[in-house]
Amino acid sequence: MTAAKKSRYVDVSNPSLAVDCPRCGLRTARFDEFCRNCGYQLWPSSRAASAAFLAWRAADPARAPASRFDLEIPQHIDNTVDFAARARELGIHLFPNSSWPFIICLGILFLGLGAIPFSSTTRITLAVIGGVIFLYGVAGWVLVEDVKMYPGDSVEAGAEVHH
Ligand SMILES: [Zn+2]
Repeated sequence: MTAAKKSRYVDVSNPSLAVDCPRCGLRTARFDEFCRNCGYQLWPSSRAASAAFLAWRAADPARAPASRFDLEIPQHIDNTVDFAARARELGIHLFPNSSWPFIICLGILFLGLGAIPFSSTTRITLAVIGGVIFLYGVAGWVLVEDVKMYPGDSVEAGAEVHH
């Protein structure tokens, strides 16, 4: 069968994973059985397309990460960003990742309970408990942890005042 013979032939020197469809002219995966755009049959069978793809991939170790359905060989690009370092570069003050906001919310809960019209003693007690927890949380976050993360900030600010 000529079709079977044809299916074994693949130009492995061509590095492209995409091909222009002979019928619609649009770009499609080279080793897909059908054109993705118009359904034109590019390969006599899925098996033939797969065999051609495997032969093509085996020709070059750089093609190992490719999939039959890719339009180009996937490149691993490390695009992680250290936002903390970036912010420091730009002079943006980020608050540290912290569990102190949970303490602050607990304080707000008690302050809120203090707003319920119970007897005044209960309300004052709740307000005092809430206020203490709230201030403890704010102090821990802003005065302790934040200063630990940005030890230079207060010094720089102080230096600028003298100009
Ligand atoms: Zn097509």
